[in-house]
Amino acid sequence: MTLPTRSQRSALYKSHPELILNLGSCLAVLAIVAIVTFLLMRERSSVEQAAARSASNIVQLIESDIVRNVELYDLSLQGLIWAVQRPELLAVPAELRQQILFNQAVTAPVRGDILWLDAKGNVVADSTSAIPRQANFADSKDFLQHRNNPNLGLLIGQPFKARLGDLDWCISFSRRISGPNGEFLGVAAGALRLSYFSTLFQRLDIGSDSSINLMNTDGALLVRQPGTPDEPRIGQNYSDRPNFQRMRADVSGTFAGISTRTGKERLFTFARVGDLPLIVIVAHSADEVFESWRRTALLVSVATGVLCIGILWLTLLLGRELRRRQSAEQGLAALAATDSLTGLANRRRLDQVLRQEWARSQRNARPLAVLMVDVDHFKAFNDRHGHPGGDAALRQVATTIASSIRRPADLAARYGGEEFLVVLPETELAGARLLAERIRAAVEALPPFGDDTAPVTVSIGIGCHTPGTQQDLQTLLGAADEALYRAKGNGRNRVEAAA
Ligand code: GH3
Ligand code: MG
Ligand code: MG
Repeated sequence: MTLPTRSQRSALYKSHPELILNLGSCLAVLAIVAIVTFLLMRERSSVEQAAARSASNIVQLIESDIVRNVELYDLSLQGLIWAVQRPELLAVPAELRQQILFNQAVTAPVRGDILWLDAKGNVVADSTSAIPRQANFADSKDFLQHRNNPNLGLLIGQPFKARLGDLDWCISFSRRISGPNGEFLGVAAGALRLSYFSTLFQRLDIGSDSSINLMNTDGALLVRQPGTPDEPRIGQNYSDRPNFQRMRADVSGTFAGISTRTGKERLFTFARVGDLPLIVIVAHSADEVFESWRRTALLVSVATGVLCIGILWLTLLLGRELRRRQSAEQGLAALAATDSLTGLANRRRLDQVLRQEWARSQRNARPLAVLMVDVDHFKAFNDRHGHPGGDAALRQVATTIASSIRRPADLAARYGGEEFLVVLPETELAGARLLAERIRAAVEALPPFGDDTAPVTVSIGIGCHTPGTQQDLQTLLGAADEALYRAKGNGRNRVEAAA
């Protein structure tokens, strides 16, 4: 494809100014819309990134807090196991034994309690009181698992509602107590109250429609903040939900998804808590994250829309003005090229066409003929009928000449006074003579004017340029004039050609 040259472009502009104007403003409008859309989308993605970053910070904060708590818990369990295995322990008074067995810093009532269970599942010692509560955990899943497998290490259980104490939701941490030969002696079990995490999560402001969640890798919900008191969802299993499956497949990440609970769009940011089977999830409400962006986008879109409509409206006005000016220019140009009396081309237009056709005939080596037509005895006609009568006769002659020429390139013009010139491009002498004769006969055939007995007549001189001859435009016109002079001399109402 070749691009238009500068002159082709300016010609295009001159011939289709309105098209160019419309095309230009449509392109401008499209460009504005494209730029604004691009900027808004970029802004949206940076808002999303900022939300993900802040969620990820929250997730990390929570993760490290939980890991620290679980470590403390595990240390307490290990301390309990160490103490239980000391033979001296039996000799120690009950209250002191209580202090030795349980690390008070960890087993503060806000966090939970620790129990020492014997091989039958009975509570031997209880961190909450020196006199242990009476209970048996032989049927608990964690207990059975420890009994059957000596190598479980720290076992984190499913969330459960405590059987002892204030019946809070808890999650259990337990370790097996083994004898010197690896035999099962019991379990050191701690329960961490999930309300401890709720308090931790509550302190973080993440928006009213967003939530912080703690789940275990089996898909059970352990903590949700803010919670919904009317729907006790703690312990509910989410393992079959696609969002959860996506989170379980990775250690950490961020993605947008539809919440199966609320049906709204959420930005999920999640991370596995250390090596523990726990996942922290921050679910930001997309409505909240993008609220301010949506307002900005609406404002910018409306402003852009108004701007674009303004541009298109101005284009419309300008186009109408352009059309008006163009038609006025065309009218003026036609007026400037027309002879007001006869309606034929005037002298200015004639000069222009003559120069053009002369140049074309030179370039293409084609013939060019001119007829010089002069009304006979017109001075006397004017004397008989007055100037208005003369004018009317001139108009009749002009109309007759104009209707005698057929080809689109032919031009009849008023040369001056009662003289006319007919330009005949690509016409040989024979053709020019035929046409001149037709004009002469047609004028002669007009009905006599007023009470005249004889019709108006014209004499015609033909000048003809044949390619290859040394001639210029002035000599061509001079030759036609000379032929006309001869026609006058030979008795008028006749056609003569230049020698
Ligand atoms: P010839 O046959 O030799 O051409 O005789 P003629 O009388 O036509 O010759 P001449 O060129 O001397 O006269 C031209 C006259 O045409 C002079 C003028 O009165 C008249 N004439 C020129 N222009 C106009 C015009 O626009 N209107 C009218 N009514 N008469 C015009
Ligand atoms: Mg004359
Ligand atoms: Mg005359």
